[in-house]
Formats: sequence, C-alpha cells, structure tokens
Amino acid sequence: MQANEKYIDESRQGEALMTLPTRNASKKLFLESYGCQMNFSDSEIVASILTEEGYQTTNQVNEADLILLNTCSIRDKAEQTVRNRLNALNAIKKQNPSLKIGVLGCMAERLKHKFLEEEHLVDIVVGPDAYRDLPNLLTEVEDGRDAINVQLSKEETYAEISPIRLGGNGVTAFVTITRGCDNMCTFCVVPFTRGRERSRDPHSILREIQELHEAGYKEVTLLGQNVDSYLWYGGGPKKDFKNATEIQKATAVDFAQLLDMVAMQFPSIRIRFSTSNPQDMKDNVLETMAKHHNICKYIHLPVQSGSTTVLERMNRQHTREQYFELIDKIRKIIPDCALSHDMIAGFCGETEEEHQDTLSLMEYVKYDFGYMFAYSDRPGTPAHKKMADDVPAETKKRRLQEIISLQQQHSAERMKAYVGKTHEVLIEGNSKKDENYWFGRNTQNAVIVFPKIEGTSVGDFVQVYVHDCTTATLLGEMQNQN
Ligand code: SF4
Repeated sequence: MQANEKYIDESRQGEALMTLPTRNASKKLFLESYGCQMNFSDSEIVASILTEEGYQTTNQVNEADLILLNTCSIRDKAEQTVRNRLNALNAIKKQNPSLKIGVLGCMAERLKHKFLEEEHLVDIVVGPDAYRDLPNLLTEVEDGRDAINVQLSKEETYAEISPIRLGGNGVTAFVTITRGCDNMCTFCVVPFTRGRERSRDPHSILREIQELHEAGYKEVTLLGQNVDSYLWYGGGPKKDFKNATEIQKATAVDFAQLLDMVAMQFPSIRIRFSTSNPQDMKDNVLETMAKHHNICKYIHLPVQSGSTTVLERMNRQHTREQYFELIDKIRKIIPDCALSHDMIAGFCGETEEEHQDTLSLMEYVKYDFGYMFAYSDRPGTPAHKKMADDVPAETKKRRLQEIISLQQQHSAERMKAYVGKTHEVLIEGNSKKDENYWFGRNTQNAVIVFPKIEGTSVGDFVQVYVHDCTTATLLGEMQNQN
C-alpha cells in the first residue's frame, strides 16, 4: 500500500483506541491499530459497532474481555510486529482463558484461514469489509467456534456508521470517501486486501463533516487509496460505472465536485485529501483547489519511480513525461502548492540508469518532502508472482540513501523558502519539545512552532511570521491577530 505510506505514522503504531465511557457497557474492548490512517479510521468504525454491542474501550490490556488488533500488510516487518504482539498476548490469554482475541484489517484479509491455523490463540479473523458482521462473529466465538469473515464487498463504505473519534487532538480528523483500489500496481497488496474501488455517498460525507464541525473540528482530510478517482453514481464499484443508467451518469459526482461541495458548505473548515494518483488527477481538481481558500495547497502525489520503464513494470499507467506535464500544470494553476511523494528504491530489475531517472525527476519537481523505501517484495502481488526481486540489498540500500539525501536537500530548500513570510496556521496542540510553544501547520502542510500568546488555544487559526527553520520545522512568532 505504498500510496498510503504518508499515513503510516510511526508514533501511532500499536496505539489503543479510547472512547468516552459508554452507559450500560458490560464488556471491555482493547482495540489496537497498526498501519496507515485508513486502519485508524476503520478502528473508529469498529468501536462504533461494538459500542452498540455493550463494549467499552480500555487501554488496559489486562482488563479486556476482547482484544482486537487492526493490522497492516504493507511490509514483512509490519506483519512481524503483529505476530510478536500476538505472542506477547499469549501470556494474558493463559491467565484469562475466557479472553477473546481477534485480528482485523489487511493481514486478516491476506492470510484468511491460515491465521487461525498459524496463530492458535486467535479466535476471530475479520477483513476490512466485514466489520458489520462482528456482532455475529462474536456470538460464534461465544458458542465455541472459530469465527472468520474475510468477504470483500463491492458496496460496503460504512457510510452511515458514525465513527467514534476521540483518540486525536479534537481539531483535525480523517473522513473516508473511497475504499479499495482498482489500479493493480504490481507491488501493492491493496487490491487484494481491500478489494474493488467504491465511493461513499456524498450526503453521508457531508453529514459526517457537519458532525465534526459541530464538535469543534477545524480540518478534515478526505481519505482513500485513490481519492481523485472518487465517483458517486448511486453506489457500487467504480468499474461498473459504464453500466450505469443515463440518469445515474448525468447526476454522478466526481472528486472535484465533492471537493467543491465540501469547501462551499464548510468555509471555516480546512480541507486536505490523500492519496492522489497521478493518472487520475484531473484539471478540474486543480482548478477547484485554486478556487477555494479553505482547500489546502498541498498534494501528496506518489510517483514511486522516475523511470518510464520501471513505471511500466509497476503498472503505474503513466510515463515520466506525463508526470512532468502534471507537475507543470499544478505549478501553473496553484503556484504555491507543496508536493510530496512516495518513492521505491530498487524495484524488480531496476538498472543504474533507471535509478538516475528517479534522481533527475526529483531534481525537476523539488518535493517538499517524501516517503522513501527500499523495495520489499510482498507475497500475493503480481510483482512477487511474475518478477524477480533481483536488485541486491546493498544496492537498494545505497540507492535509497541517495534518494533520501537528495530529498533532505530539497526539503531544506523548500523550508527556507517559507522563511520571511507570514502564514495562516491552525493550532493543533503543544509543541512536543516545549509546552510554552504551539504546534500547527500552514496550508502547505509544513510544521510551524511558535511561542504561545495568552488568549489563543487549540483550534484557532492564527497568522504566524516565520523567521527561521530547521530541516523539518518552521520557527515563528504570532502576529497581531486583528
Ligand atoms: S494506486 Fe497502486 S499503490 Fe496505490 S493503493 Fe492502488 S494499487 Fe496500491
């Protein structure tokens, strides 16, 4: 799931979801999440479903009646982390045999029944499209049976389930707008673990943002594996749009229209989105971004490689030249737009020349930041089945280091370009290093820290003059707010 690397926040891996006390709750749920933001969002849906079943969340694993791990399959290391966690939970299960343990998410989907065979302490295995079935599966387990549902759905978007959202800062939230992906990039597990691409009803998206607005949230990130491909025509998979009725086609809502609706209806809320796929990013999205002040000027635009031949092997469906055209268009329509990337070093068969193409592409774009990885072969993907993972580990490591060094250089240049200017910043919380400082981000998603001034609080939009920077952080002073 390379395109969603952005939201693999290392500091949140293994975080336990906590919700407000539930009335009449008789059982305790320990729900731990791994992987990308999509999983953290899904955990909020799971909490909502189980709250209806009389569960109350706990962050004390020892007092839980039910432990659920929402897992990630992106790399072998991610899966190993979950296996180690399960081993550690074994000791608790020995002391408390009535404790039930379940595995959710991508790893559940990838391994299916194998999970129950390999990890004997696991009682429940549930894939990302089957969370509504959790109450039934729990009954199965109570009756002494192993419970598994890894059915992928063409329709499921959990549209009307209001996620329980209390882990974050109360100011910024993620709102899922699409699920699954049809792109079949050869290195990616998403099409197999999260199924066909489908879009969520725009009314339910607007309703969720309305609820967030009423609860005091100031920024939403519209989330999906490929948000630019969003297309609502009454429900069902994107690939079936061609069979839609004339009325459905005429009234369909695409991503630019959705963005426009959200921006117009919530002028005081900042809007971000992720992830964008170059081949699906249309001009109307860029024009909508340019039109609305409250749509942030930042695009996470994974490219994965700068070489057309590698892009072909990855089945990315665009060339190096087409990517440059898109970058030129973005710079023209939204001149102050920040860009970030995902990059894979050492994909199957990558030559030195192809690697040099990646470096020269980075020189052309000069990204604000990037998420960079050495290629890791994932079982089940087309690359695993049909291509040799033949770039030696040492070479992968060296190429990755060259990519990282170049990105550090570009990030430093971009940060310096923000110095000497005033930025609108949403205060998101205390600076980690010093609680006398606020932490927030500008529209380009750059982190800014600045001394607190009395009368300001989390959730305020303030003007901050940036006077200095480190490699990753802008340092500023609040301006007179009138
Ligand atoms: S666009 Fe490609 S990398 Fe991204 S989720 Fe879809 S298949 Fe995976």
